[in-house]
Amino acid sequence: MRKLGSETLVIATHNAGKLKEIGALLAPYGMNCISAGSLGLPEPAETGKTFAENALIKARAAAESSGLPSLADDSGLCVDALGGRPGVYTADWAQRQWFEGPPGRDWFMAMGKVEGFLAELGAEADRGCHFACVLAIAWPDGDSAVYEGRVLGSLTWPPHGKMGFGYDPVFVPNGDTRTFAEHDPEEKHRISHRAAAFARLVAEQFGA
Ligand code: IMP
Repeated sequence: MRKLGSETLVIATHNAGKLKEIGALLAPYGMNCISAGSLGLPEPAETGKTFAENALIKARAAAESSGLPSLADDSGLCVDALGGRPGVYTADWAQRQWFEGPPGRDWFMAMGKVEGFLAELGAEADRGCHFACVLAIAWPDGDSAVYEGRVLGSLTWPPHGKMGFGYDPVFVPNGDTRTFAEHDPEEKHRISHRAAAFARLVAEQFGA
C-alpha cells in the first residue's frame, strides 16, 4: 500500500466548503491541503459511470497538472428500488431545466423526483438506499488508491429537518427515526458515508 509521501496534498475541488472540511479532517495528521481551484487548475468533466471513476478522473487531473499527490471525492445517493439511481447523477437530478425556473439546483425538486419514481413502483416499493462517498488519491506518476464509505438508510416522505444539505431531509439512517437533516452536524459526521471513507483513508495512510 502506497503512502502519500508528501506533506502537501492538492484537494481536487473548486468548492471552498469542501476544501475547508477536508483540510480540517487531515490537519491532525500534519497535512497541508491546497485546492485545485487556488492553483488555477482546470476542472475535468465528470464522465465516469461510477463514483470511483469520477473521483479518479478529478484526482488524476489535479496530480498531473500540479505534480503533487491529489485527493478528490465523489458522492451521491443510491436507491435500491431504482437500481442504484440517481448514483453518479445525484447532483444532476437537482439541476433545473430552463422551463423549471432560474438556473441552479433545486433539492426539493430532486427529492420529489426520487419520490415520484418510487410512487410509480407502488406503495410496497422497497425504500432502502444508501449514501456513498469515494475518496481517490492520485500520485503524479499515475499510481492511485480509492477508499469507499457508505451509510445505509431508507427514504421518507415528506422531507423533514432543516440541517445538512442535498437529500438529507429524506434520508433516515438505519437504526434511527430522524432524517439526516434532523441530526446535528457532529452527529451526522460520526456516521456519514464521508466519515466512513475518511476513516479508511486515515487508517491506511496514517495508521490511525
Ligand atoms: P459531489 O460529490 O460533490 O458530486 O456531490 C454529489 C451530490 O450528492 C451532492 O450534490 C448531494 O446532493 C449528494 N450528497 C452527497 N453527500 C450528501 C449528504 O451527506 N447529504 C445529502 N446529500 C448528499
